[in-house]
Amino acid sequence: MSADKTPELKPNLNIVVAIDGPAGAGKSTIARHLARHFGLLNLETGAMYRAFALKALRLDVALDDPAALERLAVETDIKLEPGEAENRVLLDGEDVTGQIRNQTVTDAASRVSVFPPIRAAMVKRQQEMGARGGVVMEGRDIGTVVFPKAEVKIFLDAAPEVRGMRRYDQIGQSGLAGAKAVPPPDEVIRDLRARDERDRNRADSPLKPAPDAFLIDSTNLTLEDAVKAAEDTVHAWLAKSEVSNSHR
Ligand code: C5P
Repeated sequence: MSADKTPELKPNLNIVVAIDGPAGAGKSTIARHLARHFGLLNLETGAMYRAFALKALRLDVALDDPAALERLAVETDIKLEPGEAENRVLLDGEDVTGQIRNQTVTDAASRVSVFPPIRAAMVKRQQEMGARGGVVMEGRDIGTVVFPKAEVKIFLDAAPEVRGMRRYDQIGQSGLAGAKAVPPPDEVIRDLRARDERDRNRADSPLKPAPDAFLIDSTNLTLEDAVKAAEDTVHAWLAKSEVSNSHR
């Protein structure tokens, strides 16, 4: 995976905010909000696994063949360009932003992301993108593996049924199902549980909170409340760091 230029960083704050958690917990919304509020760049690492999965699907590379996937990763260039609403995702220079959210790619991303060589390639690129700070990075392993020394770590969770229903609404509203009918809620919840299972039980970088992560369970929270809790976490870190700086 090539390591050339990341977009120019113009952050107000030079910190890394790591947001991890399972699908449908509200990570993207919260990351977007924090990025806007604190002047940080928002980087959605899941989009990288999705773009890589799209390439594997297009080239008919078996999703359970680690050696073939590793060869593919070596010759793949994935870039994220932070934007107001979502990241623009470039796969070997092609804008694939609109092609990575459907169910086929979603499932494939979850499958390819269990293999250590694939993760290593993605993690290296993510570390390069966040090296200068000024980022909110969201994913599954940001606080544990990608940036274990991130200034602020948030682990966002919610009950599977609640996350499944959020995902169901999202599929309906965004036309993600394409020409197909929107799958029924119980099917969406089942798929989400299968992805969770894979993410939580893989040997390499399983989804879990970092020991020093701040946990937010959004099961019974409105989106506004969850956003506020995340914002308060960053403010608390800022206040603490000002106090410790003033004692130097
Ligand atoms: O976050 P998103 O749903 O877009 O991620 C797609 C898939 O990529 C997830 O199901 C997960 O398996 C994988 N992923 C990962 N590590 C990350 C981000 C995403 O394994 N940091």
